[in-house]
Amino acid sequence: MSVSNEPAAIADVAIVGLGPVGATLALLLGQAGLSVVVLEREAEPYTLPRAVHFDDEVMRVLQTIGVADEVLPHTHLSPGMLFVDAAGRRLLDWSRAMNIGPQGWHESYRFHQPDLERILRRKLSTAPSVTVLARRDVFAIDQDPDGATLRFEDLASGQLESVRARYVVGCDGARSLVRRLIGSTSVDLGFHERWLVIDCLLKRDKPELGEHSIQFCEPERPATYVRGVGQRRRWEITAKDSESNAALMEPAKIWQLLSRWITPEDADIERAAVYMFHSVVARKWRHERLLIAGDSAHQTPPFLGQGLCAGIRDASNLAWKLAAVIRGGAPGTLLDSYPSERIPHVTEYIELAVRLGGLINTRAVERALPGASAGDEPVRMSSIKPSLGRGLALSSERPVGTPAPQPRMPDGRLFDDRVGYGFALIARASDAAADDALRRQCQQQGVAFVAADEAGPLQAWLDQAGISAALVRPDRYVLAVAETSADAAGLLTHALRLSPSADRKSCAA
Ligand SMILES: Cc1cc2nc3c(=O)[nH]c(=O)nc-3n(C[C@H](O)[C@H](O)[C@H](O)COP(=O)(O)OP(=O)(O)OC[C@H]3O[C@@H](n4cnc5c(N)ncnc54)[C@H](O)[C@@H]3O)c2cc1C
Repeated sequence: MSVSNEPAAIADVAIVGLGPVGATLALLLGQAGLSVVVLEREAEPYTLPRAVHFDDEVMRVLQTIGVADEVLPHTHLSPGMLFVDAAGRRLLDWSRAMNIGPQGWHESYRFHQPDLERILRRKLSTAPSVTVLARRDVFAIDQDPDGATLRFEDLASGQLESVRARYVVGCDGARSLVRRLIGSTSVDLGFHERWLVIDCLLKRDKPELGEHSIQFCEPERPATYVRGVGQRRRWEITAKDSESNAALMEPAKIWQLLSRWITPEDADIERAAVYMFHSVVARKWRHERLLIAGDSAHQTPPFLGQGLCAGIRDASNLAWKLAAVIRGGAPGTLLDSYPSERIPHVTEYIELAVRLGGLINTRAVERALPGASAGDEPVRMSSIKPSLGRGLALSSERPVGTPAPQPRMPDGRLFDDRVGYGFALIARASDAAADDALRRQCQQQGVAFVAADEAGPLQAWLDQAGISAALVRPDRYVLAVAETSADAAGLLTHALRLSPSADRKSCAA
């Protein structure tokens, strides 16, 4: 890829911003065989406190891009979150199972965002079709019928340069330039609060702090405690209107706020920052060749730990569609299914985060979780798993629009490793001749075929849904299902319509 004052080569995709979402998208696109250029303003990942939790679906995407095994030692399994009032009474119990769940991973992991970003960047340095250009500040993007020209400043030399790409994805964070160029306004979901976030490193063990995250629902001063990886501990504490950011960041003030949990003898403060937490979703995620993903498309208060998770889901949803359009001859309109699927999905998470923010401020469980009744026992909450918005789905009946399960297969591999980064057909056994024909048809189309009876959980999943077969997309979401074995072959027409025609022989088992 050449980068010069005169645009020469054209990349398949240019990504603005190398945060966790841009890095994940670049790795997925590279895996699909696309040429990618990433432009990032900073030399190093962001150093202020940010994400501490991700879920099983994120781990599944990290598995797809080949970094899950490297990330795993940098995580700590989370038993979940408790909401308590000023008297220590449990209002809400959102405990998580501590065993591996249907996604093939645990439900909830604690992590340290800079660890993840370092691993993603290292992986990118080995991706042959991805070029990362750091210290490049993108300031303009012009679209034309064949692509887009991105103009940027090389911050090391001060030179103004440009690069061309067929599509541009803005993973450029909350103050996104690409969102502004798309001309998007945002839906405001009503939560805007200033919080002080403090990351500490314990100098000695403090088991009494606990393994659960705790939301202190104390209207006087709501606060959150998060047990991090190793000796890392996080406190998030609301700012009062009368307190300036500078006053809150004074070490004496920080220690005063932390004094009910720890003292300087117990821990060092690693870093602290005052954030304004917002709850917004951009209305428009695409304008022709420009798209947005991650914080540029949505922002959430952190009470569900889902901001980064949603961004990684964006990347996973978008990557295979870009590959299908650029390499597979799918129509550009396929990209419209990206916002149509993702906007309702992420909105559901943000609305719940806002309601939980309300609970932390008011202790009103019923308002946070309609239908829940607060009695002597804490209300039990479980993780939500919304379906994708309408998008490509031919039906609104689950499991369409939800992730397929990921069991371990008889050869010891996880389902996704077995099927590779592409479409997969899971089908119940029928008669031998029909099964053979279906298997051959899958092979011809580059769709991985998996007989449900190879793994008990697949069989059980089909049974529970009352279906005979399911077509799974490269982002592991179910595209379509067949009720009878006779209809299973018909599902392949959907894959043919959408499948990137890149070499997928390695994927088809
Ligand atoms: C206190 C706090 C706690 C959080 N906790 C969680 C949690 O537990 N779980 C969770 O899932 N999420 C959490 N989040 C949210 C999570 O950190 C963000 O959602 C995530 O970092 C967003 O990633 P991103 O890649 O979209 O954007 P960013 O990480 O913001 O990256 C954007 C990148 O674009 C670059 N850029 C911007 N403009 C340009 C330009 N014009 N040219 C070149 N480069 C540009 C920037 O330099 C930056 O590197 C938390 C956030 C905060 C603040």
